[in-house]
Amino acid sequence: MYFADEPEHIALLRQTIRRFVEAELPPDKVRQWDKDCHVPLELFAKLAELGVCGLTVAEEYGGQGRDIVAAVVVIDELSRRGWSMAGPYIQCAFYGGINISENGSEQQKRDLLPPLARGEMLFAYGLSEPNVGGDLASVETRARKSDNAGTVIVNGAKRWCTAADLADYIYCLVRSDDERPRYKNLSLILVPTDLPGISMTPIDHLGLRYAKSFDVHFDDVEVPAENVVGGPERWNEGWSQLAGPALDVEKLEVSAATYGIAAAAVDEAWQYAEERRQFGKPISGHQSVRHSLVEAKTRLQACRHMLYHAAWLAQMERPCSVETSMAKLFIADTAVEIVLACQRVMGAYGCGEGFDMERHVRDVVCMPIVGGSSNMQKNNIANRLRLAG
Ligand SMILES: Cc1cc2nc3c(=O)[nH]c(=O)nc-3n(C[C@H](O)[C@H](O)[C@H](O)COP(=O)(O)OP(=O)(O)OC[C@H]3O[C@@H](n4cnc5c(N)ncnc54)[C@H](O)[C@@H]3O)c2cc1C
Repeated sequence: MYFADEPEHIALLRQTIRRFVEAELPPDKVRQWDKDCHVPLELFAKLAELGVCGLTVAEEYGGQGRDIVAAVVVIDELSRRGWSMAGPYIQCAFYGGINISENGSEQQKRDLLPPLARGEMLFAYGLSEPNVGGDLASVETRARKSDNAGTVIVNGAKRWCTAADLADYIYCLVRSDDERPRYKNLSLILVPTDLPGISMTPIDHLGLRYAKSFDVHFDDVEVPAENVVGGPERWNEGWSQLAGPALDVEKLEVSAATYGIAAAAVDEAWQYAEERRQFGKPISGHQSVRHSLVEAKTRLQACRHMLYHAAWLAQMERPCSVETSMAKLFIADTAVEIVLACQRVMGAYGCGEGFDMERHVRDVVCMPIVGGSSNMQKNNIANRLRLAG
């Protein structure tokens, strides 16, 4: 069980990230970046100087040592100011650091983990496709070995590939064999984004506007066979790599960002309600507003416990597929309720510029969809608990 009092190193880390957020991410700038889908990479480099990108990487590969709770704290604190820094942090420390640590070949670990731990590299996720969302085992993007087997040729399209324009690699799920059965016919490939045959078309979207999202097209893209995740010998093992321990941590990283957004919404609405006066007193003095805020804070507390308990299980490398799915499901769905309640407390000011609330609303409604939808988490929990049906 994770304890209520944080250990000293975690409390210090939290303070450090809070100071970084206050100093480097002023609310008005973050609002403008969100409008422009702009990632301030120079600030990400400053964040990386704090050493936090190495929290998912073992010391022998240049990291700080795998500390999932600490990495979750970083996301929790960064995302209180939206996704502007939490997004690139996840792309570096999680899409890159966790996946290569869990699934990379020795050579990939030696080549990629040191720059990831220094925050010098970003990965994008190439999982979703125009015809494929939750049912990832049905991906249609294909890869085949070239005649001399020194390269693999990728053809197809990925959709919603966030920040692909800034990424060094797309962590790309492909169909690698048409003869083999479902789940045994998939591979993961690290596709460098600067290869010939790759084109990107931006997709406009409501929330998670920290970066542009793209349709990415692969037209006979020739990738070195060494870029198969885990090495060429892991061809057709993509599903087990995707569904392994890295997936549990993926649910946590999304949950942490969702929790951070909800926490920021509660803080903003709480302060607003104490300052805004109607009918001769602060609106926090009207019982229904008072109760809304207290309910939101109570739900937030439940989210916090679920998040950190699941993160602790993952850190201890205990089985936690059910707990991470429960955390993702509960936090995403509850955070939507929390943020919408907070928006209502702020009346018109929860809908317009000058406050963060409208961004929190746009971001939070995406969270039960991304990183495995709420329904997919329910399916996973029912299956793992062997519910008859
Ligand atoms: C802003 C944004 C950024 C994104 N970034 C990325 C990214 O970087 N990389 C990437 O690969 N993807 C990304 N995605 C895509 C995201 O991961 C998918 O949206 C998600 O996997 C769900 O897929 P879908 O939207 O196609 O929904 P679908 O799978 O089509 O599902 C639609 C609805 O049906 C429900 N449903 C589907 N199947 C079942 C079932 N078996 N049982 C019960 N209910 C079911 C779902 O829960 C959902 O409510 C992003 C999406 C957004 C909105």
